[in-house]
Amino acid sequence: MRLSPRAAGLSGSITLTLAARARALAAAGRDVVSMAVGEPDFDAPPLVRAAAHAAIDSGEVRYTPAAGLPALRAALAAMLTERRGVATTPDRVVVTHSGKHALSHALLALVEPGDEVLLLLPAWSSYDELVRFAGGVVRQVAPRADAGPDFAALHAALSPRTRGIVLNTPSNPSGYVWGEAELRELMRIARERDLWVISDEIYARLVYGAARHVSPASLDDDARDRVVIVDGASKAYAMTGYRMGFLAGPAHIAKAVGEMQSQVSGCPNFVSQQAYLAGLVNDPPEMEAMRQAFDARRVRLYTGLRALGLDLVEPLGAFYAFPDVARFTDERGVIGLCEDALEQEALALVPGTAFGMEGHVRLSYALAEDRIDEALRRFGRVLARGRATT
Ligand code: GLU
Repeated sequence: MRLSPRAAGLSGSITLTLAARARALAAAGRDVVSMAVGEPDFDAPPLVRAAAHAAIDSGEVRYTPAAGLPALRAALAAMLTERRGVATTPDRVVVTHSGKHALSHALLALVEPGDEVLLLLPAWSSYDELVRFAGGVVRQVAPRADAGPDFAALHAALSPRTRGIVLNTPSNPSGYVWGEAELRELMRIARERDLWVISDEIYARLVYGAARHVSPASLDDDARDRVVIVDGASKAYAMTGYRMGFLAGPAHIAKAVGEMQSQVSGCPNFVSQQAYLAGLVNDPPEMEAMRQAFDARRVRLYTGLRALGLDLVEPLGAFYAFPDVARFTDERGVIGLCEDALEQEALALVPGTAFGMEGHVRLSYALAEDRIDEALRRFGRVLARGRATT
């Protein structure tokens, strides 16, 4: 059997692969500090878990409509309308198996072979793979020094074949949160060139300090009709294992994705949908408590990295830091540095190459403060050895 070029061209998720490697090392007895995967270490709020139990015991664990439970689509539409300022009706929403699933289906619905799609660096590794999986061509756009958008670079990347832009604010991996003026400029370009925008808002609730998340779809009616929001329960509700996401956009796109889903995977999981619905409707206080815990961890990691002499912009969203470590690397680049960190210090990091940027590493601070301190000690030793050899 020969693989299709589509399958042969796809590689597995780097972050998930590294997380599995860290788990294997831990199973072999090493005291691993894994900063590789972006996964909250909290459990889902009690009322979410209770709703999952109740759903199992309801005697109704069956198929739901392919696009999701009507009550959940309505709750998501209400959340977008009330909390994000994006006027949304349930027919514009599809419940999916994850944010990733929403993203891949959005790309399959929008990308024609040869279409060019702009990725704003640093960009989460799956964007690149999924654009190419959908038949598109990736055009990378380098950022400003502070990880914000460089509009001159964006203009230079535009071509007559450009069809869309994938935006992620707050950003995984940089933690950069786009300001409203930047979003307005992006949407002005999108309107001028008639581009779609996929807005990955999975970290929308995880912003800190003075930062505020703004959805580009909230800016005006034109923006709302050229933006597809992808989001889900994994990060803010600590529901990674429940596998719950959604997509919201123009009704004809939502309809197409719902039909795609009805053929590809069928309806999302009934139990998880009930759990997510309970979370959305009740907005449990644990969510704010988790955000505050992430904020404290963020400050600890950021301060610690600065104390190690690293150059980085303060991350204001998500739960990652993305420092420049180029001067600590040898000819193997950041991949070599990450390998050394794992082998010598049992510290799992993600090389910036996974996000289109050599010279950086990503550290996830979705772990307890004492583990962050331990990670900083180990990372300090890795950098000291790097510095010694250069
Ligand atoms: N989005 C998370 C991360 O970047 C989870 C891993 C993944 O889905 O690839 O680490």
